[in-house]
Amino acid sequence: MPGYTPRRVSPYVLLGVASLVAIAVALAGMAFWPGSSDPPRSPQAASTAVPLRDPHALTGRTIVLDPGHNGGNGAAGSAINRLVDAGGFQKECDTAGAETDAGYPEHAFTFDVATRAAGLLRSRGATVILTRDDDTGVGPCVDERARIGNAAGAEAVVSIHADGGPPEGSGFHVIAPAASPDGGNGGILTASARLADLLRGSFGAATGQRRADYLGDDGITVRSDLGGLNLSRVPKVFLECGNMHNPGDAGRISDAAWRQRAAEGIVDGLAAFLVSAPSGGPSGAPTGVAGPATG
Ligand SMILES: [Zn+2]
Repeated sequence: MPGYTPRRVSPYVLLGVASLVAIAVALAGMAFWPGSSDPPRSPQAASTAVPLRDPHALTGRTIVLDPGHNGGNGAAGSAINRLVDAGGFQKECDTAGAETDAGYPEHAFTFDVATRAAGLLRSRGATVILTRDDDTGVGPCVDERARIGNAAGAEAVVSIHADGGPPEGSGFHVIAPAASPDGGNGGILTASARLADLLRGSFGAATGQRRADYLGDDGITVRSDLGGLNLSRVPKVFLECGNMHNPGDAGRISDAAWRQRAAEGIVDGLAAFLVSAPSGGPSGAPTGVAGPATG
């Protein structure tokens, strides 16, 4: 620009420009490093999140989320200790759940994560049913939780928990069903194993949480002693997001931003499972994957 002579610039303007540059640098850094205490997300995170970019990807799909335990369980011993059918044997209705050393209870954690995940799923068109609507009641019992998924014809159910393991153990794991003692859940084993595998990948990628180092096999356990899995007739897994007795895990579990990432990881896994499975028939189960249902 010919004849241009720089004018004197106010120090306040310079201060403002410097602040904007600092903010821009900070935002650019966050794109590569989402949190100071977390590792950068792996490339896997981007690929598992792809289905979510389509806002209609889950339209017409029905999902049940089961936040473990309930806020009133701890003071309702006789109600939650009564025995209910668990798929070939009887087991207590429910338990009070675990809590961190600082007193953050599992029931509050599971309800918060389930509520966050439900919101994300609904925003992508899914119909979501929670097995409980608040965090102050008692129950429902484990058999009723399974029946809610069955009655809804859910295409997938995730029961959300946090473990109360040994303090030196850390990490998350997904629990997939083994054949129940009464043989009733044979039709969901294959599909549930696939859901467990996808959820393990998506949850780890979204949260940076390690796979459990104190039980299971590389983040997966397979069990036949859980009524909620034994009585399910639709694909279902439990997710133990971390160990509430471990200081590192407890810190993450108690962090609302981490819980949001946990919810995103659950949603990523469900979306990956549903978009790669055929739409359900009358029962809602992806029959092409699960195989024929048994009695
Ligand atoms: Zn639990």
